[in-house]
Amino acid sequence: MLRISNPWSVEMLRNSVFDSYQEISPREVESEQIILVEIDETSLKEMGQWPWPRNLVAELTEKILFHHPKVLGIDILFPEPDRTSPDLIAKQSQNLPKGIKDLLASLPSNDAMLATSMRDKPVVLGIAAGYGTQNKLPASSSNSIVMIGGDIRNSIPYYSQVLRNIPALEKAVQAQGVSNIAPDPDGLIRKVPMIYNISGSLVPAFETEILRIANSNIPTEVISPSSEIKEINIAGLQLKTDHLGNARIHFSDRPNKHTVSARSVLADEIPENYFNNKIVLLGVTAVGIADYTPSPLGQNLSGLALHAQALESIITDSLLTHSYISASIELGFFVLIGLVLIWISNRYTALELTVAFAILCWSIVLISWGSFKAQKLLIDPTLPLALTLTLFLIATSAGFINEQKQRRTDAREAALREREKEARIRKLQNELMHTIGKSSVQKLSSSIAHEMNQPMAAICNYTNTAKRLLDKKEISQDTLRSVLGKILAQADRGNDILKSIRESAETGKTSIRALDVNRIIQEEVELIKDVGEAQSVQIILDCDQNLPQAQANEIQLHQVLLNLIRNAVQAITHAETESKHEGEIEIRTVRNEDGMIQVSISDTGPGLSEVEKETLFKPFYTSKEQGMGLGLAISRSILEALGGSLWVEENKKGGAVFYFTLPPNEN
Ligand code: ADP
Repeated sequence: MLRISNPWSVEMLRNSVFDSYQEISPREVESEQIILVEIDETSLKEMGQWPWPRNLVAELTEKILFHHPKVLGIDILFPEPDRTSPDLIAKQSQNLPKGIKDLLASLPSNDAMLATSMRDKPVVLGIAAGYGTQNKLPASSSNSIVMIGGDIRNSIPYYSQVLRNIPALEKAVQAQGVSNIAPDPDGLIRKVPMIYNISGSLVPAFETEILRIANSNIPTEVISPSSEIKEINIAGLQLKTDHLGNARIHFSDRPNKHTVSARSVLADEIPENYFNNKIVLLGVTAVGIADYTPSPLGQNLSGLALHAQALESIITDSLLTHSYISASIELGFFVLIGLVLIWISNRYTALELTVAFAILCWSIVLISWGSFKAQKLLIDPTLPLALTLTLFLIATSAGFINEQKQRRTDAREAALREREKEARIRKLQNELMHTIGKSSVQKLSSSIAHEMNQPMAAICNYTNTAKRLLDKKEISQDTLRSVLGKILAQADRGNDILKSIRESAETGKTSIRALDVNRIIQEEVELIKDVGEAQSVQIILDCDQNLPQAQANEIQLHQVLLNLIRNAVQAITHAETESKHEGEIEIRTVRNEDGMIQVSISDTGPGLSEVEKETLFKPFYTSKEQGMGLGLAISRSILEALGGSLWVEENKKGGAVFYFTLPPNEN
């Protein structure tokens, strides 16, 4: 829409790019056909103030025309009669003697002299288009332009009025063209219209008429299939104007190459044939009188120099064109860029998008520059670049938003996964706890069964012995009493064990009471020996006789001791099969520095590696084929629940020392 509505801001942007192209690469070619005769400061100094009497202009004109130029274009307007003409002086001066007045009146007027100098010569005069009421058109306008095709009058620059030269001059000259050029809104002149619509009539520009007269006097053809100009044909010269008939100047950075001062012409200082067959432009360039306008190259050019630049561009076929071809290429760019960026942004990463963006930008700039350089075709890079940038920003910010969204989704999924993982771990933990619980019950029951087995076996043993002795009648009353006492003691112990199981099954709690640790150790060792578990191992007891009682549960303490002693026995017997030397277990009790009851069970087994020291208290860690890996874990949790602890150290004699502590009974 911007491209089609083409507001001035867009035009400005586009123009500034095209201006910089011209600055980088100004027009190099020169036709060597155009010569400027300037009424400059030196001329005014020599010949007097401006405006000059027209007999002087006539003399100047004559001197130029004497050298047979192809055409002389005079960029000076003569709208009123010259008041310095002798006849007008005679009229205006009241006090002159009659003789002098008559003499003056009989002399030819300056305007007539100027008209005579131009008559039947290839001279083009400038006229000025503007707005006002006096809208009489120049005499020559009607037949110098023909329209072939549509009516283009509504497309070209329109003015209501034209400032004409005095009739005497109009009649004398071959052609007149509009010589005042309107700058662009930013004050720069970039183009000259070749045809104007003045109050409905087609009027040629100064340049158009100069070229027409210079070549041949045939009318200029405006070819337009519709209401817009396709081509302007001036005496066989095809102009590449835009569709409004504007010729876009390619400026040279040496605008005043062929310039002479009017003073030199008047002083006959110009070489013979200097103007011969040339296009000569005559105008005022003196500062303060002439208007200077900036060009895209940053030079301040007089009206005369501007006309010269326009004519040079036309003659050397250097006009710049911003035509329908440019417009279609620009629109083609839009579609291409849009499709490429949309296609890439959907498929590739931000980096690839950036690379595509850079390539597109560069190709736009290169194509635009290349067509300017090679074809003088102006292709606007600004809108395609702006579009590329906009699409790139949209694509990247869309990508950014998507990425953010993706990140949020990822974070949500990660959190979900984390929660699931936690749930799984909790489930596993529950299962583990369940298993541990179950196995501790199994372990507990097996150790209870084991313990019940011991008193039962002992009772059996004692009873059998007593029976055998009674059968042989060898038993004394005392021995029988002692054997029966032992049987009773074992039965009591069995009773206690059952009571304890019942209690903990009913209450869910274990009964804690004051216990003699030394006694329990002794009993456990005896029992282990009695059942024949530690046959090849020597168990040494070193018990502190002043040990206070401990706060513990008897069954649990038995379980801990059973675990630790059995582990020690197994470690030794396992090592023995390899090294074949006798093992030793030492069980010590002491009250340690913290006041706790400390029991150590040291063995002469293989000992423990550093890694094992860390891991063997973890559930299910075992090195045994039949092991469950729960003994130490359960023992530690039992001891910790009782307020004590369990750890392992190295035995200096080789092997391991397991220590556990229990709080003393303070009551
Ligand atoms: P289990 O006896 O069923 O393997 P434990 O928890 O009682 O389970 O023991 C775990 C592991 O610790 C044993 O498999 C063994 O490798 C190691 N261990 C325990 N006590 C000793 C010891 N006195 N000497 C060497 N290793 C031991």
